[in-house]
Amino acid sequence: MNAEEAHAVHGWEDVTVHTEPAHVFCTKCCAKLMTVKPAFALRHGVENGIASRHRSFSYCNHCKKQYWEGTHWDSIRKRLKVVSRIAAKSSAL
Ligand SMILES: [Zn+2]
Repeated sequence: MNAEEAHAVHGWEDVTVHTEPAHVFCTKCCAKLMTVKPAFALRHGVENGIASRHRSFSYCNHCKKQYWEGTHWDSIRKRLKVVSRIAAKSSAL
């Protein structure tokens, strides 16, 4: 989306763009996630190579699914920053 397209969208002043996505709820069962350390993730099934590359994981105590920030998160952050800049310009008009 470019700035012109963003200006055509109504209600940007009501939009808050969070550029740091958070793991809050499990996408599998919707339970609230816990933040856990790599050692915990390793004991609960995450591969050693993955556990050694990340500082924290999110863990669902209900269905036991684990989450971590893969490489796609950098792409998501870049897109959110672009949207945030466009929203800030649009709300300043
Ligand atoms: Zn779950």
